[in-house]
Amino acid sequence: MSSERLIYLPLGGAGEIGMNAYVYGYGKPEQERLIVVDLGVTFPDMDGTPGVDLILPDITWLAERKDRIEGIFITHAHEDHVGAVSHSYEALGAPIYARPFTANIARRKMGEYGYPEDAVTVSAAWPDQVEAGPFKVGFLPMSHSIPESAALIIDSPAGRVIHSGDFKLDETPLVGEAFDPKLWADVSKDGVKAFVCDSTNIFSPNPGQSESTVGPEIETLIRGHKTGIVVATTFASNVARVKTLAEAGERAGRSIVLLGRAMRRMVEAAIETGVLKDFPPTVSPEDARNIPRENLMLLVTGSQGERRAASAQLANGKYMGLELKEGDLFLFSSKTIPGNERGVIRIMNQLSEKGVDVVDESSGGHYHVSGHANRPDLERLQDIVNPQIVVPMHGEHRHLREHVKLAEGKGRKGVLAVNGMMIDLSGNAPKVVEYIETGRTYLDGSVQIGALDGVVRDRIRMALNGHVLVTLILDDNDEPLGEPWCETMGLAETGRSKAAVVEVFEADLSQFLGRADAKTLRDDSKLEEALRRIVRKTGQDEVGKKPEVTVVISRMH
Ligand SMILES: [Zn+2]
Repeated sequence: MSSERLIYLPLGGAGEIGMNAYVYGYGKPEQERLIVVDLGVTFPDMDGTPGVDLILPDITWLAERKDRIEGIFITHAHEDHVGAVSHSYEALGAPIYARPFTANIARRKMGEYGYPEDAVTVSAAWPDQVEAGPFKVGFLPMSHSIPESAALIIDSPAGRVIHSGDFKLDETPLVGEAFDPKLWADVSKDGVKAFVCDSTNIFSPNPGQSESTVGPEIETLIRGHKTGIVVATTFASNVARVKTLAEAGERAGRSIVLLGRAMRRMVEAAIETGVLKDFPPTVSPEDARNIPRENLMLLVTGSQGERRAASAQLANGKYMGLELKEGDLFLFSSKTIPGNERGVIRIMNQLSEKGVDVVDESSGGHYHVSGHANRPDLERLQDIVNPQIVVPMHGEHRHLREHVKLAEGKGRKGVLAVNGMMIDLSGNAPKVVEYIETGRTYLDGSVQIGALDGVVRDRIRMALNGHVLVTLILDDNDEPLGEPWCETMGLAETGRSKAAVVEVFEADLSQFLGRADAKTLRDDSKLEEALRRIVRKTGQDEVGKKPEVTVVISRMH
């Protein structure tokens, strides 16, 4: 009988930035008791996943072993860490643990989908530990761009693993706990088997900057703006930044309005859980209409150009009765995440058309700092923890690879583990022991579908090529009853021959049917295939596109 082992298995977040989901296990092979760290989402885009609402990690492997799951531990309340808890609840059903602020957000998500909020247990910070089968798990406070972020101290019979979660080394974070090097040294002093670590900013060569560095310049900017409304956008979950912005506005004599559901929800959660104290009083959008523009400051969602968020709506026209115009100022206190540039630039141009001044990091001021540790910070923390093995996570492949190099350069063992690679951490060196099939699940409307199910592929094809519906009726003798008829969607109405495209399709199909042999007319699939081919060819000739085709054949017998 083989002996017990400690395994690590990323199902999401390793080899990509987003939808974090990591599994740890301890026990005999195939009988390990499991814990899950984070269940996050990724956001869809129009190019690759049109119409999809959310992208979730494929948790089939876990669901098939749900009786072995001892608990789900959420490091912090960013969507890419907590966004999938409710969507995974039916499949996994395990208890969820998080610190108060994160738990508050997770509970709201559970409630929204009709799941029991008490499935989420509120956990205290280290030195408290949660017993989860062979594991003891503790939440070690760490600074990040959201309150109460935590690293996890995961103790197993095979040793201590520290899972960093997302972090930066901020000793003055304004809201939430500061990075505490002594605490980290203390939890590491008896030896750390493996340090599973955030890799996001491995390519940033300078030490990261504290949240406290952005306030003064934001305040100068707002004070300097005497005319019109000031609007600022940032991630709503960056509660420290929201507070900095609100306080700067208040000091400049402006009333604060929170716009966007996430903005109100995050501030509410932070006040409820005691994370946020002394937040300036706010006024409702309705009351704001009676306040002079130069005494207003709006804090709004949508820093990434999201179409339905408050920023986009303000850029477009009115939102909640408020409208921007010449003399107003719009501050992006944020970084545009790669991939979101087009949406952000669209908003900036719309604002520009209204005569609104747009300010962001490129304007020369210091209005944003990253929530992730840069290379020198990663080195510093690695040296404090001094683990036997470094396992990079939370990064694209290039980030993980560079992070492994960094670890090895410092004489430690590193392992490049991407989604689906099961790593045995028990021995002196990490070992790949299995490859698990992983992927993505789409939340599409109210239904979860596999990324490879073909639903979105069909949707993209229709969007790219247009669609033609062909209807044909055949009588008792398998002879066409009248002409076939067509309807098109997403195709130009007239093409090369200047006639209506629908009529050209119908004429070509009629011509084919007039000379089709009895064998073809009797066989649905042959007939369907022949009609499809004609439509695609005609489409190519007429409008230069091969449309998607649906053929409906009705027989009178
Ligand atoms: Zn995060």
